[in-house]
Amino acid sequence: IRGTSVRVTQATLVWLRQDLRLSDNPSLNAAMERGSPIVPVFIWSPQEEGNRPLGSASRWWLKQSLEQLNAALRKRGSRLVIRSGPVLDTLLTLSKETGANAIFWNRTYEPAAIARDRELKHTLRERGLTVNSFPGNLLFEPWTLANSTGQPFRVFTAFWKACLKSPAPASPSSAPDTILAPASWPNSEQDLDLDSDTKVDWAAGLRESWQPGEASALKQLTVFLDHAVVPYATERDRPDHPGTSLLSPYLHFGELSPRQIWHAAVGRPDAAAFLRQLVWREFAHHLLFHYPATPDQPLRSEFLHFPWRLDEASFKAWTRGQTGYPIVDAGMRQLWHTGWMHNRVRMVAASFLVKHLLIPWQEGAAWFWDTLVDADLANNTMGWQWVAGCGADAAPYFRIFNPTLQAERFDPDGAYVRRWVPELANLPNEWIHQPWNAPALVLQGAGVELGMTYPLPVVNHEFARDRALMLWRNRAQWSAANSYLPPISE
Ligand code: FAD
Repeated sequence: IRGTSVRVTQATLVWLRQDLRLSDNPSLNAAMERGSPIVPVFIWSPQEEGNRPLGSASRWWLKQSLEQLNAALRKRGSRLVIRSGPVLDTLLTLSKETGANAIFWNRTYEPAAIARDRELKHTLRERGLTVNSFPGNLLFEPWTLANSTGQPFRVFTAFWKACLKSPAPASPSSAPDTILAPASWPNSEQDLDLDSDTKVDWAAGLRESWQPGEASALKQLTVFLDHAVVPYATERDRPDHPGTSLLSPYLHFGELSPRQIWHAAVGRPDAAAFLRQLVWREFAHHLLFHYPATPDQPLRSEFLHFPWRLDEASFKAWTRGQTGYPIVDAGMRQLWHTGWMHNRVRMVAASFLVKHLLIPWQEGAAWFWDTLVDADLANNTMGWQWVAGCGADAAPYFRIFNPTLQAERFDPDGAYVRRWVPELANLPNEWIHQPWNAPALVLQGAGVELGMTYPLPVVNHEFARDRALMLWRNRAQWSAANSYLPPISE
Protein backbone atom coordinates (compact mmCIF):
# COMPACT_ATOMS: atom_id res chain seq x y z
CA ILE A 1 0.00 0.00 0.00
CA ARG A 2 1.59 3.23 -1.16
CA GLY A 3 2.49 5.61 1.60
CA THR A 4 2.00 3.26 4.53
CA SER A 5 4.46 0.83 6.01
CA VAL A 6 2.82 -2.51 6.60
CA ARG A 7 4.65 -4.84 8.97
CA VAL A 8 4.44 -8.24 7.34
CA THR A 9 5.64 -11.06 9.49
CA GLN A 10 5.42 -14.77 8.97
CA ALA A 11 2.68 -16.72 10.68
CA THR A 12 2.76 -17.77 14.33
CA LEU A 13 1.62 -21.18 15.52
CA VAL A 14 -0.21 -20.94 18.85
CA TRP A 15 -0.06 -24.45 20.29
CA LEU A 16 -3.03 -24.89 22.67
CA ARG A 17 -2.92 -27.55 25.37
CA GLN A 18 -4.48 -26.97 28.80
CA ASP A 19 -5.47 -23.40 27.91
CA LEU A 20 -8.53 -23.94 25.72
CA ARG A 21 -9.71 -20.32 25.90
CA LEU A 22 -9.35 -17.04 24.07
CA SER A 23 -9.53 -14.62 27.00
CA ASP A 24 -6.52 -14.14 29.27
CA ASN A 25 -4.42 -16.36 27.04
CA PRO A 26 -0.82 -15.03 27.14
CA SER A 27 0.53 -17.05 24.19
CA LEU A 28 -2.34 -15.90 21.98
CA ASN A 29 -1.83 -12.31 23.15
CA ALA A 30 1.89 -12.49 22.34
CA ALA A 31 1.08 -13.83 18.86
CA MET A 32 -1.42 -10.98 18.37
CA GLU A 33 1.31 -8.50 19.29
CA ARG A 34 3.55 -9.86 16.53
CA GLY A 35 0.89 -8.67 14.12
CA SER A 36 1.24 -11.84 12.09
CA PRO A 37 -1.36 -14.34 10.87
CA ILE A 38 -2.11 -16.85 13.62
CA VAL A 39 -2.62 -20.59 13.30
CA PRO A 40 -4.18 -22.02 16.49
CA VAL A 41 -3.24 -25.68 16.80
CA PHE A 42 -4.25 -28.59 19.01
CA ILE A 43 -2.18 -31.79 18.76
CA TRP A 44 -3.61 -35.09 19.97
CA SER A 45 -0.64 -37.16 21.03
CA PRO A 46 -1.85 -39.53 23.76
CA GLN A 47 1.59 -40.95 24.53
CA GLU A 48 3.03 -37.48 25.03
CA GLU A 49 0.15 -35.81 26.91
CA GLY A 50 1.87 -35.89 30.28
CA ASN A 51 2.60 -38.49 32.94
CA ARG A 52 -0.49 -40.55 32.13
CA PRO A 53 -2.72 -40.99 29.08
CA LEU A 54 -5.95 -39.01 29.49
CA GLY A 55 -8.74 -40.84 31.35
CA SER A 56 -12.13 -41.61 29.77
CA ALA A 57 -14.03 -38.71 31.37
CA SER A 58 -11.26 -36.27 30.45
CA ARG A 59 -11.32 -37.45 26.83
CA TRP A 60 -15.05 -36.80 26.71
CA TRP A 61 -14.54 -33.30 28.12
CA LEU A 62 -11.67 -32.53 25.78
CA LYS A 63 -13.69 -33.45 22.71
CA GLN A 64 -16.51 -31.05 23.63
CA SER A 65 -14.07 -28.36 24.63
CA LEU A 66 -12.22 -28.47 21.30
CA GLU A 67 -15.53 -28.08 19.46
CA GLN A 68 -16.40 -25.04 21.58
CA LEU A 69 -12.99 -23.51 21.03
CA ASN A 70 -13.21 -24.02 17.27
CA ALA A 71 -16.63 -22.32 17.24
CA ALA A 72 -15.29 -19.37 19.26
CA LEU A 73 -12.31 -19.03 16.91
CA ARG A 74 -14.54 -19.14 13.83
CA LYS A 75 -16.58 -16.23 15.20
CA ARG A 76 -13.33 -14.25 15.12
CA GLY A 77 -12.32 -15.18 11.58
CA SER A 78 -10.00 -17.95 12.70
CA ARG A 79 -10.28 -21.70 13.32
CA LEU A 80 -8.69 -24.52 15.27
CA VAL A 81 -6.33 -26.81 13.38
CA ILE A 82 -6.41 -30.28 14.94
CA ARG A 83 -3.72 -32.83 14.19
CA SER A 84 -2.73 -36.11 15.77
CA GLY A 85 0.79 -37.53 15.88
CA PRO A 86 4.14 -36.94 17.56
CA VAL A 87 4.33 -33.32 18.70
CA LEU A 88 7.73 -32.39 17.28
CA ASP A 89 7.01 -33.77 13.80
CA THR A 90 3.56 -32.20 13.78
CA LEU A 91 4.81 -28.76 14.75
CA LEU A 92 7.59 -28.90 12.15
CA THR A 93 5.19 -30.04 9.43
CA LEU A 94 2.71 -27.32 10.31
CA SER A 95 5.34 -24.61 10.38
CA LYS A 96 6.43 -25.67 6.85
CA GLU A 97 2.84 -25.85 5.58
CA THR A 98 1.95 -22.40 6.94
CA GLY A 99 5.31 -20.69 6.62
CA ALA A 100 5.25 -20.02 10.38
CA ASN A 101 8.54 -18.97 11.90
CA ALA A 102 7.37 -18.80 15.53
CA ILE A 103 5.63 -21.18 17.93
CA PHE A 104 4.10 -19.97 21.19
CA TRP A 105 2.48 -21.94 24.00
CA ASN A 106 1.38 -21.59 27.61
CA ARG A 107 3.12 -23.80 30.14
CA THR A 108 1.66 -26.94 31.67
CA TYR A 109 3.16 -28.49 34.78
CA GLU A 110 3.09 -32.28 34.71
CA PRO A 111 6.68 -33.47 35.14
CA ALA A 112 6.66 -35.46 31.88
CA ALA A 113 5.25 -32.46 29.97
CA ILE A 114 7.87 -30.12 31.44
CA ALA A 115 10.68 -32.43 30.29
CA ARG A 116 9.07 -32.85 26.85
CA ASP A 117 8.57 -29.09 26.40
CA ARG A 118 12.15 -28.31 27.40
CA GLU A 119 13.48 -30.66 24.75
CA LEU A 120 11.01 -29.44 22.14
CA LYS A 121 11.99 -25.84 22.73
CA HIS A 122 15.65 -26.69 22.28
CA THR A 123 15.10 -28.71 19.07
CA LEU A 124 12.71 -26.22 17.48
CA ARG A 125 15.08 -23.33 18.20
CA GLU A 126 17.91 -25.32 16.65
CA ARG A 127 15.75 -25.52 13.52
CA GLY A 128 15.65 -21.73 13.45
CA LEU A 129 12.15 -21.19 14.87
CA THR A 130 11.30 -18.58 17.48
CA VAL A 131 9.83 -20.46 20.45
CA ASN A 132 8.35 -18.85 23.55
CA SER A 133 6.41 -20.28 26.47
CA PHE A 134 4.20 -18.25 28.81
CA PRO A 135 2.72 -18.53 32.29
CA GLY A 136 -1.05 -18.64 32.00
CA ASN A 137 -2.46 -21.51 33.99
CA LEU A 138 -1.32 -20.74 37.55
CA LEU A 139 -1.31 -17.63 39.72
CA PHE A 140 2.30 -18.20 40.77
CA GLU A 141 4.92 -20.17 38.87
CA PRO A 142 5.87 -23.11 41.13
CA TRP A 143 9.57 -22.25 41.22
CA THR A 144 9.04 -18.62 42.29
CA LEU A 145 7.98 -19.40 45.87
CA ALA A 146 10.24 -20.83 48.58
CA ASN A 147 10.15 -20.98 52.36
CA SER A 148 12.47 -19.02 54.65
CA THR A 149 15.25 -21.59 54.18
CA GLY A 150 14.90 -21.53 50.40
CA GLN A 151 13.17 -24.92 50.31
CA PRO A 152 9.83 -25.83 48.71
CA PHE A 153 6.82 -25.38 50.98
CA ARG A 154 5.33 -28.49 52.59
CA VAL A 155 2.85 -26.70 54.85
CA PHE A 156 -0.17 -25.09 53.23
CA THR A 157 -0.69 -22.17 55.65
CA ALA A 158 2.87 -20.96 55.14
CA PHE A 159 2.43 -21.32 51.37
CA TRP A 160 -0.83 -19.34 51.47
CA LYS A 161 0.84 -16.53 53.44
CA ALA A 162 3.69 -16.42 50.94
CA CYS A 163 1.17 -16.14 48.09
CA LEU A 164 -0.57 -13.24 49.82
CA LYS A 165 2.78 -11.44 50.22
CA SER A 166 3.73 -11.96 46.56
CA PRO A 167 2.82 -9.34 43.95
CA ALA A 168 -0.87 -9.77 43.10
CA PRO A 169 -1.57 -11.82 39.97
CA ALA A 170 -1.71 -9.61 36.84
CA SER A 171 -5.12 -8.52 35.61
CA PRO A 172 -6.61 -10.85 33.02
CA SER A 173 -7.02 -9.74 29.42
CA SER A 174 -10.17 -10.10 27.37
CA ALA A 175 -10.57 -12.18 24.21
CA PRO A 176 -9.56 -10.53 20.91
CA ASP A 177 -12.44 -9.51 18.62
CA THR A 178 -10.74 -10.78 15.48
CA ILE A 179 -7.75 -12.99 14.84
CA LEU A 180 -5.75 -12.60 11.65
CA ALA A 181 -6.04 -15.74 9.50
CA PRO A 182 -3.27 -17.18 7.32
CA ALA A 183 -3.63 -16.88 3.51
CA SER A 184 -4.71 -20.52 3.40
CA TRP A 185 -5.60 -22.93 6.16
CA PRO A 186 -3.74 -26.21 6.65
CA ASN A 187 -5.88 -29.36 6.92
CA SER A 188 -7.50 -30.16 10.21
CA GLU A 189 -8.54 -33.65 11.31
CA GLN A 190 -12.28 -33.90 11.72
CA ASP A 191 -12.64 -37.06 13.75
CA LEU A 192 -10.33 -37.39 16.70
CA ASP A 193 -11.01 -40.72 18.33
CA LEU A 194 -11.67 -39.47 21.85
CA ASP A 195 -14.75 -41.51 22.67
CA SER A 196 -14.62 -44.14 25.36
CA ASP A 197 -14.42 -47.77 24.22
CA THR A 198 -17.28 -48.85 26.49
CA LYS A 199 -20.40 -50.14 24.78
CA VAL A 200 -22.83 -48.53 27.21
CA ASP A 201 -23.44 -44.81 26.71
CA TRP A 202 -21.41 -43.92 29.77
CA ALA A 203 -21.13 -40.29 28.71
CA ALA A 204 -24.91 -39.74 28.99
CA GLY A 205 -24.53 -38.61 32.61
CA LEU A 206 -21.65 -36.31 31.67
CA ARG A 207 -23.68 -34.68 28.91
CA GLU A 208 -26.55 -34.17 31.32
CA SER A 209 -24.28 -32.60 33.96
CA TRP A 210 -21.85 -30.39 32.04
CA GLN A 211 -21.43 -27.94 29.22
CA PRO A 212 -17.68 -27.71 28.55
CA GLY A 213 -16.10 -24.63 26.96
CA GLU A 214 -15.01 -21.11 27.76
CA ALA A 215 -18.44 -19.48 27.47
CA SER A 216 -19.92 -21.90 30.02
CA ALA A 217 -16.92 -21.45 32.30
CA LEU A 218 -17.40 -17.68 32.40
CA LYS A 219 -21.13 -18.11 32.97
CA GLN A 220 -20.54 -20.57 35.79
CA LEU A 221 -18.07 -18.18 37.43
CA THR A 222 -20.60 -15.35 37.35
CA VAL A 223 -23.44 -17.50 38.65
CA PHE A 224 -21.26 -18.80 41.48
CA LEU A 225 -19.92 -15.40 42.51
CA ASP A 226 -23.33 -13.76 42.37
CA HIS A 227 -25.13 -16.43 44.36
CA ALA A 228 -22.78 -18.56 46.36
CA VAL A 229 -19.54 -16.93 47.36
CA VAL A 230 -20.91 -15.45 50.57
CA PRO A 231 -22.04 -18.70 52.16
CA TYR A 232 -19.07 -20.60 50.63
CA ALA A 233 -17.11 -20.79 53.89
CA THR A 234 -19.88 -22.75 55.55
CA GLU A 235 -21.62 -24.32 52.55
CA ARG A 236 -18.54 -25.75 50.85
CA ASP A 237 -18.58 -28.80 53.09
CA ARG A 238 -22.21 -29.70 52.38
CA PRO A 239 -22.57 -32.21 49.55
CA ASP A 240 -26.36 -31.87 49.82
CA HIS A 241 -26.17 -28.15 48.89
CA PRO A 242 -24.87 -26.49 45.71
CA GLY A 243 -22.18 -24.64 47.71
CA THR A 244 -19.03 -24.88 45.58
CA SER A 245 -18.11 -23.33 42.25
CA LEU A 246 -17.97 -26.48 40.03
CA LEU A 247 -15.13 -24.79 38.18
CA SER A 248 -12.54 -27.57 38.53
CA PRO A 249 -12.82 -29.13 35.04
CA TYR A 250 -12.82 -25.69 33.40
CA LEU A 251 -9.70 -24.80 35.36
CA HIS A 252 -7.99 -28.05 34.48
CA PHE A 253 -8.54 -27.61 30.75
CA GLY A 254 -7.80 -23.92 30.97
CA GLU A 255 -11.21 -22.79 29.75
CA LEU A 256 -10.92 -20.26 32.52
CA SER A 257 -7.69 -18.96 34.04
CA PRO A 258 -7.08 -18.75 37.79
CA ARG A 259 -6.31 -15.05 37.28
CA GLN A 260 -9.80 -14.50 35.91
CA ILE A 261 -11.23 -16.16 39.00
CA TRP A 262 -8.92 -14.30 41.36
CA HIS A 263 -9.76 -10.87 39.97
CA ALA A 264 -13.49 -11.58 39.72
CA ALA A 265 -13.64 -12.76 43.35
CA VAL A 266 -11.15 -10.61 45.21
CA GLY A 267 -12.76 -7.91 47.32
CA ARG A 268 -16.17 -9.58 47.42
CA PRO A 269 -17.51 -10.28 50.90
CA ASP A 270 -16.29 -13.64 52.16
CA ALA A 271 -14.18 -14.32 49.04
CA ALA A 272 -11.15 -15.21 51.18
CA ALA A 273 -12.31 -18.75 51.92
CA PHE A 274 -12.87 -19.38 48.22
CA LEU A 275 -9.54 -17.86 47.13
CA ARG A 276 -7.76 -19.90 49.80
CA GLN A 277 -9.22 -23.03 48.23
CA LEU A 278 -8.08 -21.85 44.80
CA VAL A 279 -4.59 -21.56 46.26
CA TRP A 280 -4.70 -25.24 47.30
CA ARG A 281 -4.52 -25.84 43.55
CA GLU A 282 -1.38 -23.69 43.43
CA PHE A 283 0.05 -25.63 46.38
CA ALA A 284 -0.62 -28.93 44.57
CA HIS A 285 1.29 -27.68 41.51
CA HIS A 286 4.12 -26.41 43.71
CA LEU A 287 4.41 -29.88 45.29
CA LEU A 288 4.23 -31.72 41.98
CA PHE A 289 6.91 -29.48 40.51
CA HIS A 290 9.31 -29.96 43.42
CA TYR A 291 8.48 -33.63 44.09
CA PRO A 292 7.85 -35.04 40.60
CA ALA A 293 7.82 -38.69 41.73
CA THR A 294 4.75 -38.16 43.94
CA PRO A 295 2.09 -39.31 41.42
CA ASP A 296 3.47 -42.80 42.05
CA GLN A 297 5.40 -42.60 45.31
CA PRO A 298 4.49 -41.29 48.76
CA LEU A 299 6.14 -38.01 49.70
CA ARG A 300 6.84 -39.39 53.18
CA SER A 301 9.11 -42.26 52.33
CA GLU A 302 8.25 -44.46 55.35
CA PHE A 303 4.91 -45.10 53.59
CA LEU A 304 6.74 -46.84 50.74
CA HIS A 305 6.63 -49.99 52.87
CA PHE A 306 3.07 -49.72 54.19
CA PRO A 307 1.46 -53.20 54.19
CA TRP A 308 -1.33 -52.52 51.67
CA ARG A 309 -3.80 -55.23 50.61
CA LEU A 310 -4.69 -55.62 46.94
CA ASP A 311 -8.22 -56.88 47.49
CA GLU A 312 -10.00 -56.94 44.14
CA ALA A 313 -13.50 -57.73 45.39
CA SER A 314 -13.50 -54.81 47.86
CA PHE A 315 -11.99 -52.49 45.27
CA LYS A 316 -14.75 -53.40 42.84
CA ALA A 317 -17.41 -52.79 45.51
CA TRP A 318 -15.86 -49.36 46.13
CA THR A 319 -15.75 -48.38 42.44
CA ARG A 320 -19.38 -49.46 41.94
CA GLY A 321 -20.72 -47.68 45.02
CA GLN A 322 -21.60 -50.99 46.73
CA THR A 323 -19.61 -50.83 49.98
CA GLY A 324 -22.67 -50.77 52.23
CA TYR A 325 -21.66 -47.32 53.59
CA PRO A 326 -24.26 -44.97 52.07
CA ILE A 327 -22.12 -41.80 52.01
CA VAL A 328 -19.23 -43.61 50.30
CA ASP A 329 -21.58 -45.26 47.82
CA ALA A 330 -23.38 -42.00 47.09
CA GLY A 331 -20.04 -40.32 46.29
CA MET A 332 -18.82 -43.13 44.07
CA ARG A 333 -22.10 -43.16 42.16
CA GLN A 334 -22.09 -39.39 41.79
CA LEU A 335 -18.58 -39.76 40.35
CA TRP A 336 -19.63 -42.46 37.89
CA HIS A 337 -22.70 -40.56 36.74
CA THR A 338 -21.45 -36.97 36.61
CA GLY A 339 -17.64 -37.27 36.46
CA TRP A 340 -17.38 -35.14 39.61
CA MET A 341 -17.61 -35.72 43.35
CA HIS A 342 -17.99 -33.23 46.16
CA ASN A 343 -14.69 -32.51 47.94
CA ARG A 344 -15.91 -33.59 51.40
CA VAL A 345 -17.12 -36.88 49.95
CA ARG A 346 -13.88 -37.33 47.98
CA MET A 347 -12.11 -37.22 51.33
CA VAL A 348 -14.49 -39.70 52.97
CA ALA A 349 -14.53 -42.14 50.03
CA ALA A 350 -10.75 -41.97 49.58
CA SER A 351 -10.14 -42.43 53.30
CA PHE A 352 -12.45 -45.45 53.29
CA LEU A 353 -10.42 -47.06 50.50
CA VAL A 354 -7.00 -46.52 52.06
CA LYS A 355 -7.79 -46.89 55.77
CA HIS A 356 -10.82 -49.18 56.01
CA LEU A 357 -9.92 -51.40 53.06
CA LEU A 358 -6.11 -50.83 53.14
CA ILE A 359 -6.06 -50.63 49.34
CA PRO A 360 -3.13 -48.57 47.96
CA TRP A 361 -3.98 -44.90 47.40
CA GLN A 362 -2.45 -45.18 43.92
CA GLU A 363 -5.28 -47.57 42.92
CA GLY A 364 -7.89 -45.08 44.07
CA ALA A 365 -6.07 -42.23 42.33
CA ALA A 366 -6.05 -44.25 39.08
CA TRP A 367 -9.82 -44.80 39.33
CA PHE A 368 -10.38 -41.09 39.93
CA TRP A 369 -8.05 -40.33 37.04
CA ASP A 370 -10.21 -42.32 34.67
CA THR A 371 -13.62 -41.15 35.88
CA LEU A 372 -13.22 -37.48 36.95
CA VAL A 373 -13.88 -34.75 34.39
CA ASP A 374 -11.52 -32.59 36.49
CA ALA A 375 -8.78 -35.28 36.72
CA ASP A 376 -5.65 -33.29 37.39
CA LEU A 377 -2.30 -34.87 38.19
CA ALA A 378 -1.30 -32.24 40.75
CA ASN A 379 -4.64 -32.00 42.59
CA ASN A 380 -5.40 -35.70 42.46
CA THR A 381 -1.95 -36.69 43.73
CA MET A 382 -2.04 -34.19 46.56
CA GLY A 383 -5.62 -35.13 47.49
CA TRP A 384 -4.87 -38.84 47.70
CA GLN A 385 -1.59 -38.42 49.56
CA TRP A 386 -3.27 -36.01 51.96
CA VAL A 387 -5.98 -38.54 52.74
CA ALA A 388 -3.53 -41.45 53.02
CA GLY A 389 -1.41 -39.48 55.48
CA CYS A 390 1.72 -39.80 53.35
CA GLY A 391 1.79 -36.38 51.67
CA ALA A 392 2.61 -32.77 52.49
CA ASP A 393 0.59 -31.19 55.28
CA ALA A 394 -1.43 -34.41 55.31
CA ALA A 395 -4.12 -35.52 57.74
CA PRO A 396 -2.15 -37.74 60.15
CA TYR A 397 -2.58 -41.43 59.42
CA PHE A 398 -4.12 -42.14 62.83
CA ARG A 399 -7.00 -39.72 62.18
CA ILE A 400 -9.51 -42.09 60.63
CA PHE A 401 -12.77 -40.74 59.27
CA ASN A 402 -15.87 -42.45 60.60
CA PRO A 403 -18.06 -42.48 57.46
CA THR A 404 -21.28 -42.52 59.47
CA LEU A 405 -20.36 -39.52 61.62
CA GLN A 406 -19.08 -37.61 58.58
CA ALA A 407 -22.35 -38.30 56.80
CA GLU A 408 -24.48 -37.28 59.79
CA ARG A 409 -22.54 -34.03 60.09
CA PHE A 410 -22.35 -32.99 56.45
CA ASP A 411 -25.52 -34.58 55.02
CA PRO A 412 -27.74 -34.24 58.09
CA ASP A 413 -31.04 -34.88 56.36
CA GLY A 414 -29.65 -37.59 54.09
CA ALA A 415 -30.65 -35.64 50.96
CA TYR A 416 -27.34 -36.37 49.22
CA VAL A 417 -27.55 -40.10 49.98
CA ARG A 418 -31.20 -40.23 48.89
CA ARG A 419 -30.26 -38.59 45.59
CA TRP A 420 -27.50 -41.07 44.73
CA VAL A 421 -28.57 -44.23 46.57
CA PRO A 422 -32.29 -44.25 45.76
CA GLU A 423 -32.81 -47.76 47.15
CA LEU A 424 -32.39 -46.21 50.63
CA ALA A 425 -34.57 -43.16 49.94
CA ASN A 426 -37.44 -44.26 52.18
CA LEU A 427 -35.34 -44.80 55.29
CA PRO A 428 -35.90 -42.24 58.04
CA ASN A 429 -33.06 -39.75 58.75
CA GLU A 430 -32.06 -41.67 61.85
CA TRP A 431 -30.99 -44.73 59.82
CA ILE A 432 -30.21 -43.35 56.37
CA HIS A 433 -26.47 -43.29 57.10
CA GLN A 434 -26.32 -46.61 58.95
CA PRO A 435 -28.94 -48.98 57.54
CA TRP A 436 -27.20 -52.00 59.09
CA ASN A 437 -28.25 -50.73 62.56
CA ALA A 438 -31.87 -50.07 61.59
CA PRO A 439 -34.57 -52.25 63.22
CA ALA A 440 -35.98 -54.96 60.93
CA LEU A 441 -39.40 -53.35 60.81
CA VAL A 442 -37.98 -49.99 59.75
CA LEU A 443 -36.01 -51.66 56.96
CA GLN A 444 -39.06 -53.56 55.87
CA GLY A 445 -41.20 -50.42 55.89
CA ALA A 446 -38.62 -48.66 53.69
CA GLY A 447 -38.39 -51.57 51.28
CA VAL A 448 -34.75 -52.26 52.15
CA GLU A 449 -33.50 -55.82 52.34
CA LEU A 450 -29.86 -55.74 53.39
CA GLY A 451 -27.69 -58.03 51.33
CA MET A 452 -30.37 -58.00 48.59
CA THR A 453 -31.53 -54.49 47.70
CA TYR A 454 -28.51 -52.81 49.34
CA PRO A 455 -25.26 -54.43 50.52
CA LEU A 456 -24.22 -55.07 54.08
CA PRO A 457 -21.00 -53.16 54.97
CA VAL A 458 -17.95 -54.71 53.25
CA VAL A 459 -16.06 -54.20 56.51
CA ASN A 460 -17.08 -53.30 60.04
CA HIS A 461 -16.00 -49.75 60.95
CA GLU A 462 -14.65 -50.48 64.44
CA PHE A 463 -12.74 -53.53 63.21
CA ALA A 464 -11.27 -51.60 60.27
CA ARG A 465 -10.33 -48.66 62.47
CA ASP A 466 -8.55 -50.88 65.01
CA ARG A 467 -6.77 -52.77 62.25
CA ALA A 468 -5.49 -49.55 60.65
CA LEU A 469 -4.36 -48.14 64.00
CA MET A 470 -2.58 -51.37 64.85
CA LEU A 471 -0.70 -51.22 61.54
CA TRP A 472 0.26 -47.63 62.30
CA ARG A 473 1.51 -48.48 65.81
CA ASN A 474 3.62 -51.31 64.35
CA ARG A 475 5.14 -49.12 61.65
CA ALA A 476 8.67 -49.98 62.78
CA GLN A 477 7.97 -53.42 61.32
CA TRP A 478 6.83 -52.25 57.88
CA SER A 479 9.19 -53.89 55.45
CA ALA A 480 10.41 -53.46 51.91
CA ALA A 481 8.63 -56.71 51.04
CA ASN A 482 5.36 -54.70 51.09
CA SER A 483 6.47 -51.91 48.76
CA TYR A 484 3.76 -51.01 46.32
CA LEU A 485 4.22 -48.96 43.20
CA PRO A 486 1.50 -48.90 40.56
CA PRO A 487 2.10 -50.69 37.28
CA ILE A 488 3.58 -48.43 34.61
CA SER A 489 0.76 -47.57 32.22
CA GLU A 490 1.28 -48.60 28.57
P1 FAD B 1 -14.43 -25.18 44.81
O1 FAD B 1 -14.61 -25.51 46.24
O2 FAD B 1 -15.38 -24.24 44.20
O3 FAD B 1 -12.94 -24.62 44.67
C1 FAD B 1 -12.51 -23.77 43.58
C2 FAD B 1 -11.30 -24.37 42.90
O4 FAD B 1 -10.20 -24.45 43.82
C3 FAD B 1 -11.52 -25.80 42.42
O5 FAD B 1 -12.14 -25.81 41.16
C4 FAD B 1 -10.10 -26.35 42.40
O6 FAD B 1 -9.42 -25.99 41.22
C5 FAD B 1 -9.45 -25.64 43.58
N1 FAD B 1 -9.54 -26.51 44.76
C6 FAD B 1 -10.52 -26.56 45.67
N2 FAD B 1 -10.24 -27.47 46.63
C7 FAD B 1 -9.04 -28.01 46.30
C8 FAD B 1 -8.21 -28.99 46.88
N3 FAD B 1 -8.54 -29.60 48.02
N4 FAD B 1 -7.05 -29.31 46.27
C9 FAD B 1 -6.69 -28.70 45.13
N5 FAD B 1 -7.43 -27.74 44.52
C10 FAD B 1 -8.59 -27.41 45.10
N6 FAD B 1 -9.34 -31.53 42.27
C11 FAD B 1 -9.15 -31.47 40.93
O7 FAD B 1 -9.30 -30.41 40.33
N7 FAD B 1 -8.76 -32.59 40.24
C12 FAD B 1 -8.57 -33.79 40.85
O8 FAD B 1 -8.19 -34.77 40.18
C13 FAD B 1 -8.81 -33.88 42.25
N8 FAD B 1 -8.68 -35.06 42.91
C14 FAD B 1 -8.92 -35.11 44.27
C15 FAD B 1 -8.76 -36.33 44.92
C16 FAD B 1 -9.00 -36.42 46.30
C17 FAD B 1 -8.82 -37.74 47.01
C18 FAD B 1 -9.39 -35.27 47.01
C19 FAD B 1 -9.66 -35.34 48.48
C20 FAD B 1 -9.53 -34.05 46.36
C21 FAD B 1 -9.30 -33.95 44.99
N9 FAD B 1 -9.44 -32.72 44.30
C22 FAD B 1 -9.20 -32.68 42.94
C23 FAD B 1 -9.71 -31.46 45.02
C24 FAD B 1 -11.17 -31.02 45.15
O9 FAD B 1 -11.96 -32.10 45.58
C25 FAD B 1 -11.75 -30.47 43.86
O10 FAD B 1 -10.89 -29.50 43.31
C26 FAD B 1 -13.11 -29.79 44.11
O11 FAD B 1 -14.01 -30.70 44.67
C27 FAD B 1 -13.65 -29.23 42.81
O12 FAD B 1 -14.93 -28.71 42.96
P2 FAD B 1 -15.22 -27.15 42.82
O13 FAD B 1 -14.64 -26.66 41.53
O14 FAD B 1 -16.66 -26.95 43.03
O15 FAD B 1 -14.36 -26.58 44.03
